[in-house]
Amino acid sequence: MSKQQPPEPSRARTGPWPTRRGSLRSYLLLLALAPLTLLVIVTAASIWVQYRQQSAMLVDGLRETAHAIALAVDRELDTGRAILETLAASELIDAADWRAFYELCVKIMKSRQDGAIILMDRAGQMLLNTAVEFGTPLPRLSHELADQTIEWEGRRLPLSNSRMLFDSLASGQVEYSDLYYGRVGKRPAVAIAVPVMRGGTAPYMMAISSTPKVFAALLQHESNSADLDMLIVDRAGRIISRDNDPEKVVGHLTPEPLHRAIATARSGIGETVLFDDGPSLYAFSRSAVSNWSVVVAAPRDRVLASIRRSLAPWLVAVFVVITAGIMFAQSIWRRVATPLGLLTQGAEAIQRGQQPEIPVSGIDEVDTLSRMLRHASLTEHARREEVLKRQLAEEREKATADTAEELRRSEQRYRSLFDNNLDPIFSLNGDGLFVSANAAAERLFGYTTDELKSKDFAALCIPEKREDAAAAVHDILARRSRDFETVISRDDDARVDLFVTGAPMIVDDQVTGVSCIGRDITERNRLTAELQQRVGELREADRRKDEFLAVLAHELRNPLAPIRNAVEYLRLKGPQDSETEWCRNVIDQQARQMARLMDDLLDVSRITSNKLELRKARVTLEEVLRDAIETSRPLFDGRIELAVDLSDDPLWLDADTTRLAQVFSNLLNNAAKYTDSGGHIRIHGRREGAQAVVTVRDTGIGISPELLPKIFDMFVQGDDSHRAQGGLGLGLTLARDIVRIHGGTIEAASAGHGRGSEFIVRLPLADRYRPDTTLPPAFMQTDSTPEPQPKRVLVVEDNKSQAQSLARLLQLMGHEVRVTANGASALETLADFAADVALIDIGLPGMSGYEVARRIRDRSEFRKTKLVAQTGWGREEDVQRAREAGFDHHLVKPIDHRRLQDILRSAQ
Ligand code: ADP
Repeated sequence: MSKQQPPEPSRARTGPWPTRRGSLRSYLLLLALAPLTLLVIVTAASIWVQYRQQSAMLVDGLRETAHAIALAVDRELDTGRAILETLAASELIDAADWRAFYELCVKIMKSRQDGAIILMDRAGQMLLNTAVEFGTPLPRLSHELADQTIEWEGRRLPLSNSRMLFDSLASGQVEYSDLYYGRVGKRPAVAIAVPVMRGGTAPYMMAISSTPKVFAALLQHESNSADLDMLIVDRAGRIISRDNDPEKVVGHLTPEPLHRAIATARSGIGETVLFDDGPSLYAFSRSAVSNWSVVVAAPRDRVLASIRRSLAPWLVAVFVVITAGIMFAQSIWRRVATPLGLLTQGAEAIQRGQQPEIPVSGIDEVDTLSRMLRHASLTEHARREEVLKRQLAEEREKATADTAEELRRSEQRYRSLFDNNLDPIFSLNGDGLFVSANAAAERLFGYTTDELKSKDFAALCIPEKREDAAAAVHDILARRSRDFETVISRDDDARVDLFVTGAPMIVDDQVTGVSCIGRDITERNRLTAELQQRVGELREADRRKDEFLAVLAHELRNPLAPIRNAVEYLRLKGPQDSETEWCRNVIDQQARQMARLMDDLLDVSRITSNKLELRKARVTLEEVLRDAIETSRPLFDGRIELAVDLSDDPLWLDADTTRLAQVFSNLLNNAAKYTDSGGHIRIHGRREGAQAVVTVRDTGIGISPELLPKIFDMFVQGDDSHRAQGGLGLGLTLARDIVRIHGGTIEAASAGHGRGSEFIVRLPLADRYRPDTTLPPAFMQTDSTPEPQPKRVLVVEDNKSQAQSLARLLQLMGHEVRVTANGASALETLADFAADVALIDIGLPGMSGYEVARRIRDRSEFRKTKLVAQTGWGREEDVQRAREAGFDHHLVKPIDHRRLQDILRSAQ
């Protein structure tokens, strides 16, 4: 069942206000913070107003103070001026009684804190100065002095007030100096200058100088607050005095903005940094008498501090209100939010189908909601349970129906598989008794299932197979699935060969029995047996055929032997008349041809029975071809032109020379046979990679495309018109097989009828030349000595014509010959005829040639006699057998006369 998601709150307008998302908590906080924020704004505004008012008040205070002090300074200056004017009227001046005047001045100055009175004549000569004793030499002032300055404690000051004095002399007015360095008093001072008027002119000038201390005292007197900084500044912007610690600042220039303000207005206010103390608010007022300015400054921090002081309670109150507001909002939030959260969880739980705990909050609306939710929860729960029950019931019903249906179908499927299977299927219990069987099994065993149920499976097998069948069932019950064959014996005496595949039946991991699928293999077994019998018969027939071919070749050879002997006899007798000569040649040729056919037949039977043995030796291709050409030459000599083209370097082969020569001889014979007179045969031998390649090409009748693919098959022959040439269709088969067992290939090519043929033989070359020491055994070899010596020869042969023809031939060769027809007479003859060579036929009546040889070899007096077997059997085993019997040589009939002569030559 998929979980239902709560619906997304709609973003559409649902009331007069826009619907925005946000938690209740944030709304409550907003509710609490809105008036608080207003409060903060109002507070900030009132602080700002307060600050402005306080600042204005302070500045007003400063301005008033500055003004008051400026008046006080003016009063002080007026006092000084009054003193001077009083003294200027003194008669002591007129009397030039300077001492008395000096003392008067001193007296007057005693009432003043600090300062001196100076008298100067019009030329600038100082006449007296109360700063020093009377009579002390005094300097003369000049205009030039006015422009000089002096360094005093790191501050640069004008050297004198002389300009102001001369100005006063000239104008006849009171003059006020700026700050200067008094040379006589050696300290900074300010002065008031008054001309001493006598009769409209001023013969003298008087001045009263005051030190900064005087004004410091004045300022201190006027000061009503320790936080204020009060300065008196001259017209040049130099500080004349200060209320506190005047020595530190006297002579310094005021900061540029202040100086500019002072220079341009009589009074004013501003903010500047004084003496590295941080920013200060200041007010100034210019003295109407001296044009000096009084500056009163208060550090800005002080202003702020005072504002802070006055605002502190207010700020605390605001903070308390805000904190209380937030706390109140929090507590309301908790009271509302906790039950609301539980309500939300409850609603979600209801949606999930659970029954939630619904809280009681004490808030009417929330509790109403809780009640409704509880009611909704119960209703929803009941509804869900109802739905669930219904669904479960439906699902159960459906599942039962599905299972039943599936079970029914499955049952049907298996039943149909079981019943309709053409193979017998049956099951056995743990005791090997039948439990079930399908129709095919019923047919097989010849019982119905009910009848089978009481039967033991093994008991239905034939007695010889019962034990095996029981063992097989036992194996399968031991969980070893297996196949087995058995034979069922039925009631109707019929026997059925049965192939059974058995597997254990496992229910809840327990083997409860065996299930078997059988197959009636009676027919198969019968066919197999028949097939085997046929194969055996065929093999036997093939063997007999080979044997027959061998016997045939052998038997056909026998009559050939006397014919060949006779021909050889004629040849040795020397030239006859031409007709006789022609006859002899025809007989010779045909006899040779017949011998070759016999050989081919024998060889084919050897190759098909794998009995052909190769006597391999290291030999050159040239030698092999020479032998082959020599053998075949009589077939084309004078009739067809032969060209041999061989590469200069010898091509070495590991080959049986005789056999390989036989291959090329066959090819040459064919070429000669199928090429008309006047044609050409060309042999071309060359190296191609690791192979020797020999091509035998003729200009003969060619090979048809139909014949070409099967030309190497046994007994395959071409066109009948050339059958006159003779042959059995074996030559190429032999050639192919011999080349194959030499590891080579042979192929035929022809452009078609009348366009010549080409045979290509490829043979593997020997790795590299290595003189071969394994010469063919002497048994097959003959020594050749140039001079034939007359020998004593015993011929043992039961075939009269053969014996006679051979004897005659030997006699004609000049040998002494005796003939016997069997072994016993041979042994007798040998006793008084010490034969050098005994030519013994193998197939003798009574004692075989082998036996005769063995007996001869048993007797030491005959050891010098060379024993030569002559037989129609030329197989390898025949040669071997002859050797074992004691023969020195083995000649196959019809005897090769050249070999015979060689043997006779080599005999002692
Ligand atoms: P045979 O020569 O005894 O008939 P072979 O096996 O030697 O048997 O040759 C099979 C057949 O191949 C021959 O009958 C002939 O038709 C064909 N044949 C062989 N060599 C040649 C050749 N050089 N030219 C044309 N036909 C050939």
